[in-house]
Amino acid sequence: MRPTVARTIASIGLGANLGDAPTTLRRALDALGALPDTTLIATSPIYRSAPIDAGGPDYANAVALLRTALAPQALLAALQRIELAHGRDRPHRNAPRTLDLDLLLYGDECIATPTLTVPHPRMHERAFVLKPLADVAPAAVIPGRGAVSEWLARVADQRVERWSP
Ligand code: AMP
Repeated sequence: MRPTVARTIASIGLGANLGDAPTTLRRALDALGALPDTTLIATSPIYRSAPIDAGGPDYANAVALLRTALAPQALLAALQRIELAHGRDRPHRNAPRTLDLDLLLYGDECIATPTLTVPHPRMHERAFVLKPLADVAPAAVIPGRGAVSEWLARVADQRVERWSP
């Protein structure tokens, strides 16, 4: 009999605003689905949002829901490998980026280490995260903060629209 491995639902925020951003996101979603000990269980539509605190083209954003046996740090390392595989470089903070992957939620865990903060510390104030997250997990709760649906109602002034096909 196979041993039972604990699996956790994790949500990943995806963003890109250089090159063919929707194509980059679709490839990144494929890469998430190919991670070891991980199943891609839902993907949001792709949205378009204006950059925050930065210039450059609009962002393409999406959220993926994973069921994974990877520990949080291993999952973060895997996200960073996928970013690198898509040519991300980081000349300065908030620079335009080929691909940005954030670990938003990992089950109901709160994690605070020098390299990883979960829930992602700014997710509750960003419509481009909350809108696609509400699509794939309408009942999601941000540990320590409350329901995604309530935070989403508070950022209604931020422009986020479906990326036209
Ligand atoms: P960013 O510019 O937003 O991609 O920041 C990347 C850095 O944030 C990396 O050095 C990570 O170690 C750190 N980090 C902390 N918490 C998270 C998180 N929940 N998801 C992704 N990166 C994180």
